[in-house]
Amino acid sequence: PGTSVAEILDRLCATVPDYPKPGIVFKDLTPAFADPQGLRAIVDAIVAPFAGQFDLVAGIEARGFLLAAAAAYATGTGVLTVRKAGKLPRETFLEEYALEYGTAALEVHTTDIAPGARVLVLDDVLATGGTVGAAVRLVDRCGGDVVGVGVVLELEGLGGREALSGHRVHSLQRLG
Ligand code: AMP
Repeated sequence: PGTSVAEILDRLCATVPDYPKPGIVFKDLTPAFADPQGLRAIVDAIVAPFAGQFDLVAGIEARGFLLAAAAAYATGTGVLTVRKAGKLPRETFLEEYALEYGTAALEVHTTDIAPGARVLVLDDVLATGGTVGAAVRLVDRCGGDVVGVGVVLELEGLGGREALSGHRVHSLQRLG
Protein backbone atom coordinates (compact mmCIF):
# COMPACT_ATOMS: atom_id res chain seq x y z
CA PRO A 1 0.00 0.00 0.00
CA GLY A 2 1.03 3.59 -0.59
CA THR A 3 1.31 6.20 2.08
CA SER A 4 -0.59 9.15 0.62
CA VAL A 5 -3.05 10.59 3.08
CA ALA A 6 -5.99 9.76 0.80
CA GLU A 7 -4.90 6.14 0.55
CA ILE A 8 -4.33 5.94 4.29
CA LEU A 9 -7.79 7.32 5.05
CA ASP A 10 -9.43 4.97 2.55
CA ARG A 11 -7.65 2.01 4.11
CA LEU A 12 -7.69 2.91 7.82
CA CYS A 13 -10.87 4.86 8.54
CA ALA A 14 -13.46 2.46 9.92
CA THR A 15 -17.14 3.03 9.18
CA VAL A 16 -19.55 1.97 11.89
CA PRO A 17 -23.24 2.03 10.97
CA ASP A 18 -25.78 2.92 13.65
CA TYR A 19 -23.24 4.16 16.20
CA PRO A 20 -23.78 5.74 18.70
CA LYS A 21 -27.42 5.42 17.69
CA PRO A 22 -29.53 4.23 14.78
CA GLY A 23 -29.10 6.28 11.61
CA ILE A 24 -25.66 7.68 12.46
CA VAL A 25 -22.79 6.42 10.29
CA PHE A 26 -19.80 6.84 12.59
CA LYS A 27 -16.38 7.50 11.08
CA ASP A 28 -13.76 5.98 13.36
CA LEU A 29 -10.23 7.22 12.75
CA THR A 30 -8.59 5.28 15.57
CA PRO A 31 -6.98 2.76 13.16
CA ALA A 32 -5.44 5.65 11.20
CA PHE A 33 -4.16 7.25 14.41
CA ALA A 34 -2.71 3.88 15.47
CA ASP A 35 -0.78 3.52 12.24
CA PRO A 36 2.75 4.97 12.32
CA GLN A 37 2.60 6.36 8.78
CA GLY A 38 -1.04 7.28 9.27
CA LEU A 39 -0.68 9.62 12.20
CA ARG A 40 2.24 11.46 10.66
CA ALA A 41 0.64 11.74 7.21
CA ILE A 42 -2.59 13.08 8.68
CA VAL A 43 -0.91 15.62 10.93
CA ASP A 44 1.49 16.82 8.22
CA ALA A 45 -1.36 17.20 5.71
CA ILE A 46 -3.69 19.00 8.10
CA VAL A 47 -1.19 21.72 9.01
CA ALA A 48 0.45 22.13 5.58
CA PRO A 49 -1.88 24.84 4.16
CA PHE A 50 -1.41 26.92 7.31
CA ALA A 51 2.38 26.56 7.62
CA GLY A 52 3.93 29.54 9.38
CA GLN A 53 0.53 31.13 9.94
CA PHE A 54 -0.31 30.02 13.49
CA ASP A 55 1.14 30.21 16.99
CA LEU A 56 -1.30 27.94 18.79
CA VAL A 57 -3.30 24.84 17.87
CA ALA A 58 -6.74 24.48 19.46
CA GLY A 59 -7.61 20.86 20.13
CA ILE A 60 -11.20 19.89 20.90
CA GLU A 61 -11.74 17.12 23.46
CA ALA A 62 -11.17 14.30 22.91
CA ARG A 63 -10.07 13.26 19.42
CA GLY A 64 -9.00 16.80 18.54
CA PHE A 65 -6.47 16.61 21.38
CA LEU A 66 -4.54 13.90 19.54
CA LEU A 67 -4.27 15.94 16.37
CA ALA A 68 -3.56 19.22 18.13
CA ALA A 69 -0.78 17.90 20.34
CA ALA A 70 0.97 16.19 17.43
CA ALA A 71 0.51 19.24 15.18
CA ALA A 72 1.82 21.63 17.82
CA TYR A 73 4.84 19.44 18.52
CA ALA A 74 5.58 19.09 14.82
CA THR A 75 5.38 22.84 14.20
CA GLY A 76 6.92 24.19 17.39
CA THR A 77 3.68 25.82 18.52
CA GLY A 78 1.46 25.36 21.58
CA VAL A 79 -1.82 23.60 22.29
CA LEU A 80 -5.00 25.31 23.43
CA THR A 81 -7.02 22.85 25.50
CA VAL A 82 -10.71 23.09 24.52
CA ARG A 83 -12.66 20.87 26.91
CA LYS A 84 -16.17 19.67 27.48
CA ALA A 85 -17.90 21.82 30.08
CA GLY A 86 -17.01 21.27 33.71
CA LYS A 87 -13.48 19.92 33.36
CA LEU A 88 -11.24 22.98 33.56
CA PRO A 89 -10.22 24.20 37.03
CA ARG A 90 -9.81 27.95 36.57
CA GLU A 91 -12.00 30.75 35.19
CA THR A 92 -13.41 29.83 31.79
CA PHE A 93 -15.44 31.06 28.87
CA LEU A 94 -18.24 28.69 27.84
CA GLU A 95 -19.95 28.30 24.49
CA GLU A 96 -22.95 26.09 23.90
CA TYR A 97 -23.74 24.33 20.65
CA ALA A 98 -26.67 22.36 19.36
CA LEU A 99 -26.78 18.61 19.30
CA GLU A 100 -29.46 16.63 17.55
CA TYR A 101 -31.32 16.58 20.85
CA GLY A 102 -30.41 19.35 23.29
CA THR A 103 -27.14 21.20 23.68
CA ALA A 104 -23.56 20.63 24.76
CA ALA A 105 -20.88 23.11 25.75
CA LEU A 106 -17.15 23.62 25.42
CA GLU A 107 -14.90 25.68 27.66
CA VAL A 108 -11.44 27.25 27.61
CA HIS A 109 -9.51 29.00 30.33
CA THR A 110 -9.87 32.74 29.85
CA THR A 111 -6.11 33.33 30.12
CA ASP A 112 -4.69 30.49 27.98
CA ILE A 113 -4.38 32.56 24.78
CA ALA A 114 -1.86 35.38 24.45
CA PRO A 115 -3.56 38.50 22.99
CA GLY A 116 -3.50 38.38 19.19
CA ALA A 117 -2.24 34.80 19.03
CA ARG A 118 -2.94 33.17 15.67
CA VAL A 119 -4.91 29.99 16.27
CA LEU A 120 -5.49 26.92 14.09
CA VAL A 121 -8.55 24.91 15.24
CA LEU A 122 -8.38 21.13 14.70
CA ASP A 123 -10.88 18.31 15.07
CA ASP A 124 -11.31 14.85 13.58
CA VAL A 125 -14.70 15.13 11.86
CA LEU A 126 -16.71 18.15 10.68
CA ALA A 127 -20.44 17.39 10.54
CA THR A 128 -22.87 20.26 11.31
CA GLY A 129 -20.04 22.52 12.44
CA GLY A 130 -21.57 23.06 15.85
CA THR A 131 -18.55 21.77 17.74
CA VAL A 132 -15.89 23.62 15.75
CA GLY A 133 -18.10 26.72 15.70
CA ALA A 134 -18.18 26.79 19.50
CA ALA A 135 -14.38 26.42 19.61
CA VAL A 136 -13.99 29.30 17.15
CA ARG A 137 -16.20 31.53 19.31
CA LEU A 138 -14.14 30.63 22.37
CA VAL A 139 -10.91 31.62 20.64
CA ASP A 140 -12.53 34.91 19.60
CA ARG A 141 -13.66 35.62 23.17
CA CYS A 142 -10.13 34.96 24.45
CA GLY A 143 -8.69 37.56 22.07
CA GLY A 144 -7.15 35.05 19.68
CA ASP A 145 -7.28 35.26 15.90
CA VAL A 146 -8.63 32.12 14.19
CA VAL A 147 -6.53 31.64 11.07
CA GLY A 148 -8.23 28.46 9.97
CA VAL A 149 -9.94 25.18 10.72
CA GLY A 150 -8.47 21.79 9.89
CA VAL A 151 -10.36 18.50 10.00
CA VAL A 152 -9.54 15.03 8.80
CA LEU A 153 -13.00 14.23 7.45
CA GLU A 154 -15.73 16.58 6.27
CA LEU A 155 -19.22 15.07 6.06
CA GLU A 156 -20.84 16.97 3.22
CA GLY A 157 -24.47 18.02 3.21
CA LEU A 158 -24.66 18.72 6.94
CA GLY A 159 -23.83 22.42 6.67
CA GLY A 160 -20.54 22.41 8.54
CA ARG A 161 -18.57 24.46 6.03
CA GLU A 162 -21.46 26.96 5.73
CA ALA A 163 -21.69 27.25 9.53
CA LEU A 164 -18.03 28.28 9.56
CA SER A 165 -18.37 30.79 6.74
CA GLY A 166 -15.73 33.46 6.88
CA HIS A 167 -13.12 30.94 8.01
CA ARG A 168 -10.70 28.88 5.95
CA VAL A 169 -11.77 25.25 6.32
CA HIS A 170 -9.31 22.59 5.20
CA SER A 171 -10.42 18.95 5.17
CA LEU A 172 -8.29 16.00 4.11
CA GLN A 173 -11.27 14.10 2.72
CA ARG A 174 -14.87 15.00 1.92
CA LEU A 175 -17.49 12.31 2.24
CA GLY A 176 -20.89 12.72 0.61
P1 AMP B 1 -20.66 18.61 14.55
O1 AMP B 1 -20.62 19.45 15.79
O2 AMP B 1 -22.04 18.26 14.13
O3 AMP B 1 -19.85 19.22 13.42
O4 AMP B 1 -20.01 17.21 14.92
C1 AMP B 1 -18.64 17.12 15.00
C2 AMP B 1 -18.20 16.42 16.26
O5 AMP B 1 -18.93 15.24 16.53
C3 AMP B 1 -16.75 16.01 16.12
O6 AMP B 1 -16.10 16.24 17.36
C4 AMP B 1 -16.82 14.55 15.76
O7 AMP B 1 -15.84 13.82 16.48
C5 AMP B 1 -18.21 14.09 16.14
N1 AMP B 1 -18.96 13.48 15.03
C6 AMP B 1 -20.10 13.96 14.48
N2 AMP B 1 -20.57 13.14 13.53
C7 AMP B 1 -19.68 12.13 13.44
C8 AMP B 1 -19.60 10.96 12.63
N3 AMP B 1 -20.53 10.65 11.71
N4 AMP B 1 -18.55 10.14 12.81
C9 AMP B 1 -17.61 10.44 13.74
N5 AMP B 1 -17.64 11.51 14.54
C10 AMP B 1 -18.66 12.35 14.40
